[in-house]
Amino acid sequence: MSRRGLVLAELGLTPLWVRRRAALAAQETDAVQSAVIQDLPPLPTAQPLPTDDRGAQIGAMDWQQLKSAVAACTLCVLHKQRHQAVFGVGDERAEWLFVGEGPGAEEDARGEPFVGQAGKLLDNMLAAIGLKRGDNAYIANVVKCRPPGNRTPEHAEANACEPYLARQIGLIKPRLIIALGKVAAQNLLGTEATIASLRGHAHAYRGTPLIVTYHPAYLLRNLTDKAKAWEDLCFAVDTMKALKQGATTPI
Ligand code: URA
Ligand code: SF4
Repeated sequence: MSRRGLVLAELGLTPLWVRRRAALAAQETDAVQSAVIQDLPPLPTAQPLPTDDRGAQIGAMDWQQLKSAVAACTLCVLHKQRHQAVFGVGDERAEWLFVGEGPGAEEDARGEPFVGQAGKLLDNMLAAIGLKRGDNAYIANVVKCRPPGNRTPEHAEANACEPYLARQIGLIKPRLIIALGKVAAQNLLGTEATIASLRGHAHAYRGTPLIVTYHPAYLLRNLTDKAKAWEDLCFAVDTMKALKQGATTPI
């Protein structure tokens, strides 16, 4: 079995996926391709920067300035109980950007996103589509500081932290963003819509195409949705291919 096959088998994805692929075969590939092309939102040529002073300041930072600003940030209450801010990790020229919710206990202790159990699953998901952290993939969170008790970040906290993520995206210039879970999807897209209704379509965050899938921590508790996450990753791979072929606007 190929390495990819082994990874998928380990994730418990192969049998479900193979069965569906056998049933849908070529017809599905065509459907996915046309869905990709039709769903792609128009892409502005430049990433608009936030217009307030702080947004403009952060929008002009280089990597070093941005990392220092995040490390020293006390702008929302989340700074009070953190051990350290968790900036993000990976290839600063990545085509793929994965965005989670916020650091958990292990991330807060180690200063790196997705290093706990959910992180192991995320690494396997990356491997399944031929990626690994640090190599054409970057991993960040909506909030950089751990919400106490792993509670959901408040909108005000996510909003306070957003210029940092916006600048990370401006510097990386990824081709595609994958929003991991409800908190990332809802904050990045400014919507209350459910994951179920958002997945399967290409959206955009400030002009960068964005696809939604389940959060790895959710998948650890809801094994049957792993097959859907695998469909989302396949959709993301097809979307990336279409983007590289120059798809920019809906037909
Ligand atoms: N969950 C997240 O959303 N982000 C992390 O960094 C770790 C767990
Ligand atoms: Fe600053 Fe973001 Fe941390 Fe809040 S979560 S203190 S805005 S870095």
